Amino acid sequence: MRGADMVDGVLAVGGLPLPLLAERVGQTPFYAYDRARITERVRSVRGLLPDGALLHYAVKANPMPALLAHVARQVDGMDVASAGELKAALDAGCAPHAISFAGPGKREAELRQAVAAGVLIHLESEREAECLAAAARSVGRAARVAVRVNPDFEVRAAGMRMGGGAQVFGVDLEQVPSLLGRMRPLGLAFEGFHVYAGSQFLKAELWVSVLHRTVDMLLGLAAGVPGPVHSVNLGGGWGIPYTPRDEPLDMGPVADALAIAVPRLRQAWPQARVTLELGRYLVGEAGVYVTRVIERKVSRGQVFLVTDGGLHHHLAATGNLGQVIHRAYPMALARCPRPDASGVATEEVQVAGPLCTPLDTLGRGIVLPVAKAGDLLVVFQSGAYGATASPQAFLSHPPCPEVLV
Ligand SMILES: *Cc1c(COP(=O)(O)O)cnc(C)c1O
Repeated sequence: MRGADMVDGVLAVGGLPLPLLAERVGQTPFYAYDRARITERVRSVRGLLPDGALLHYAVKANPMPALLAHVARQVDGMDVASAGELKAALDAGCAPHAISFAGPGKREAELRQAVAAGVLIHLESEREAECLAAAARSVGRAARVAVRVNPDFEVRAAGMRMGGGAQVFGVDLEQVPSLLGRMRPLGLAFEGFHVYAGSQFLKAELWVSVLHRTVDMLLGLAAGVPGPVHSVNLGGGWGIPYTPRDEPLDMGPVADALAIAVPRLRQAWPQARVTLELGRYLVGEAGVYVTRVIERKVSRGQVFLVTDGGLHHHLAATGNLGQVIHRAYPMALARCPRPDASGVATEEVQVAGPLCTPLDTLGRGIVLPVAKAGDLLVVFQSGAYGATASPQAFLSHPPCPEVLV
């Protein structure tokens, strides 16, 4: 399993056995992210990208400051979705020209901050273009913009669909030509396009078909661009497996498709930086959530492991962050992690967090070695959409520390 290694019969992150790391952190639960795994993942993605393609990190997947600083040294830029994320990316050392700012409902204050910082702003509506033009005049600096296009084709089989059909995200393709015509009158410095179809793609052929349709669609806009295209952000949305049923994304076809798509764009627009923006894929498998068993409780023959961590820190692992059906994240005890190891007694358990709601369930029907109070339970695939995607104040338990090891 990714995210932790076995060292002398105990799971370890970055070479540190988790019981020792828990002592170092001083409490459970906590998140631990492995620098070396992140580095390795970035390197492997770079190996897939054709010449002329850039790799950005999508901050919302995991904005922990130390992790951002680590990632900033390895990627070509960052994508942010709020002024708070913008600050975090700048603090981490990311160059302003390499930051792009997307997301619906950007407020006037945020637009002014983005103009002042000199980042690329992905326009999501005509209202935003007008508001941005006013912000740029008042700040006294040109606004760099790219138009986020909502495609005219349907995107299926993404874990979360964010393009195609009616969307709060981006400008409908039909309306893009008229918006492009307003760039010069509004005094906006047009730089290019952004398309983001969705998140958690695990089927390579679907991602590839979205990629090719995206490139066709963008090249179809070429006649109406108000100036040279410097930036084409093709999105990303590469997924990671969360359950035994999930097959990892097959990178061969993805790399082959990029080797066709990127040169097509650069032939039409030789000055264009072609960017992929990845969040979950870069960091998701490099993190674990570590929680402690408070009690092994038997109720009418069913075994419950009640843990000190749960929904308030890790909403996604309890199936409450966008999932239709709750399928448990992979988990193991920090000691004796393989239930199939010979001589280890196992049992089927329900893993329940400490919140007073049945929503706080990390998994049902989980087979684990027989656990006792005090054991550490490790939830894998927890490096993205964890701490900051969870309602940490819910039920007033302490917030969750995060460490980068
Ligand atoms: C959320 C988001 C991402 C990151 O998605 P992942 O699935 O974590 O890779 C990238 N771009 C935009 C515009 C997003 O909204």
